[in-house]
Amino acid sequence: MLDKRTVRDLDLQGGERVLVRVDFNVPLEDGRVTDDARIRAALPTIELLLEAGARLILCSHLGRPKDREPETSLKPASDRLRELVDAPVEQAGAVVGDEVRAAVDALEPGSILVLENTRWEPGEKANDAELARELASYADAYVNDAFGAAHRAHATTAGVAEHLPAVAGLLLEREVNTLDGIVENPDRPLCVVLGGAKVTDKIALIDRFLDTADSVLIGGAMCFSFFRAQGIPTGDSLVEEEGVELARRALEKAEGSSCRLLLPVDLVLGDRFAADADRRELEGVDVPDGWMGLDVGPETAAAYAREAAAAGTVFWNGPMGAFELEPFSGGTRAVAEAVAAAPGTTVIGGGDSAAAIASFGLADQVTHMSTGGGAALELLEGKPLPGVEALDDE
Ligand code: ADP
Ligand code: MG
Repeated sequence: MLDKRTVRDLDLQGGERVLVRVDFNVPLEDGRVTDDARIRAALPTIELLLEAGARLILCSHLGRPKDREPETSLKPASDRLRELVDAPVEQAGAVVGDEVRAAVDALEPGSILVLENTRWEPGEKANDAELARELASYADAYVNDAFGAAHRAHATTAGVAEHLPAVAGLLLEREVNTLDGIVENPDRPLCVVLGGAKVTDKIALIDRFLDTADSVLIGGAMCFSFFRAQGIPTGDSLVEEEGVELARRALEKAEGSSCRLLLPVDLVLGDRFAADADRRELEGVDVPDGWMGLDVGPETAAAYAREAAAAGTVFWNGPMGAFELEPFSGGTRAVAEAVAAAPGTTVIGGGDSAAAIASFGLADQVTHMSTGGGAALELLEGKPLPGVEALDDE
């Protein structure tokens, strides 16, 4: 459970300037936001502060700018925010500087100034003390609601907290408490579904859940490192060689564990990674040469669906196959539908799995969709998150 002060603990009289680190790192197309889930997820904190009469200074990174590239401007995000909140929203032209300071000085209570992309400043990722001090000088308090960036020790996620009363936003609080709950005292059985491309990305999680979960279900390209470790032919499937030894150790650990480690029992094959590839279903998992496993098969999907339905808690991260290619999206869709329909607590760990469940229109049918992929995984692995650590203790 979060042991930090939260935005509810700020004793606001009205008129205070509050710097809020949000996660507006949203997908854009032609200068418009194509998925505003992260912006909507920040609204409870923003609205609470507006109701208290605060003057809000929001900041976020967006994408991976190398310079001040206009296509990485926060403007599309602030345009979307303006449609969602009942308050004036102004977009600044920079992160810091005289013009920003003037805009901060002119800010009225109950209104919002959105700073530019924090990564336009090289000091952001370097956690530069000067940048942190400058940002802190604009405000009376700091709120971190950017769970998706909490695994980074950057100037706006960690550095600035040294100079101001620093508290958690409501989204960050909910993310930490929900994810902590999965490791600390989940409703059992705890079923963990892991897919995606690489074992090396998820091995720490597999290792941890073999100690704490009741079942770990493996899908995605990751399963081929396990099959390789078992001496099963993988054909032309994507196999992460570095992952094979890790998979072998996980299999060994699972033997002495009360947690069941489940691997696919059938597959969908393609002759190449393309939507118009030749496609066939394979009973069993011995992939012939010339073919690659691009999805789990229907029997696997049904077995995983049964596990999810019987679970007290389901945690899911990583698609079951190459779900971006329609002919190979069936396993991911079946698991998404099963998780959405499961009666227990259901938590999606961000990243591509969140994108998948959203693309199937099932996002509102799970208990919690994390807004942070990397941050969610690191928290579950038991790593401290610098953006949380930096906040004031309760
Ligand atoms: P997440 O972001 O949810 O953690 P990852 O980034 O680890 O998930 O993995 C997602 C990627 O894995 C997707 O782009 C998907 O196409 C790919 N993938 C999953 N299964 C396969 C497969 N069998 N063969 C090739 N690529 C796969
Ligand atoms: Mg991903």
